[in-house]
Amino acid sequence: VVQLFIPLNFLGFVYREIRRALTDMGRMFGLLDVQPKVRDQAQAKTLRPGSAQVRFEHVGFGYSPQRPILKDVSFEIPAGQTVAVVGASGAGKSTLARLLFRFYDPGQGRVTIDGQDLREVTQQSLRSAIAVVPQDTVLFNDTLLYNLQYGRPEATREEVEQAVRLAHLDGFIRQLPDGYATLVGERGLKLSGGEKQRVAIARALLKNPAILIFDEATSSLDSASERAILAAIEEVAAQRTTLVIAHRLSTIVHADQIVVLEQGRVIERGRHDDLLAANGAYAALWRLQQRQQLA
Ligand code: ATP
Repeated sequence: VVQLFIPLNFLGFVYREIRRALTDMGRMFGLLDVQPKVRDQAQAKTLRPGSAQVRFEHVGFGYSPQRPILKDVSFEIPAGQTVAVVGASGAGKSTLARLLFRFYDPGQGRVTIDGQDLREVTQQSLRSAIAVVPQDTVLFNDTLLYNLQYGRPEATREEVEQAVRLAHLDGFIRQLPDGYATLVGERGLKLSGGEKQRVAIARALLKNPAILIFDEATSSLDSASERAILAAIEEVAAQRTTLVIAHRLSTIVHADQIVVLEQGRVIERGRHDDLLAANGAYAALWRLQQRQQLA
């Protein structure tokens, strides 16, 4: 009995570790919160990202047929530009990001990258062309270095350090007694929301994708942290086709285009100044947030 007990206990430990790892993997897709529901077509091709122009063409989508979420959504992210999506909670912003990452296929219309319908390319090639900076980044119970290299395991130490500088994390790491060897995650050093998001930005820089999805944190950050994230995201979004799911308006003032969603429909689009001048839904949203910031 004793002999049996020990290995079982050990197996229990292994089982818990494996489960923890799987949970971590699941939560990596925090933006997505779901496992993919799609399969590769038998003749699926490798995505050939060129300049990485993204298009949503008359996209309709619902998680269930009875409840449409996106309705006839069309917009384009020209190669290398940044489009920010804003709208009330539940308007469908994160759903757009899930469709671009192809966690679901649209019910109507299509999503394309450089003219290639996402349904016709392999998921592996699609996901290697896109980096996601989620709202809440999962850190593995391992060193900070391991967590950063997760973006590209074969990255050299120099490449990691460069990404860390661009992500405005170098100052933070310098003041840790164990530096890159610091244990983080649930059983190690707890990072603040802003620090975790900068780890995700460094990972994205290492992955060096043509397309970036940035899911801005809803929780408020202190203004120093917010400035650091904005500066970091500017580094990673430069030259990349970027979709920003915006929750605060500070990030989108500089976007090349702002798409305003209301109950799954695009009701306005344009640059910040144009939308303010139009004095419509965006202008109202802007005034509301300005008041909240002052309050
Ligand atoms: P927020 O600003 O609160 O993050 P959002 O604009 O990103 O909101 P989405 O997450 O895209 O909104 O959700 C749009 C709608 O779809 C919501 O009404 C939500 O309840 C519903 N929804 C989201 N995910 C699922 C899901 N996996 N299954 C069913 N319904 C879902």
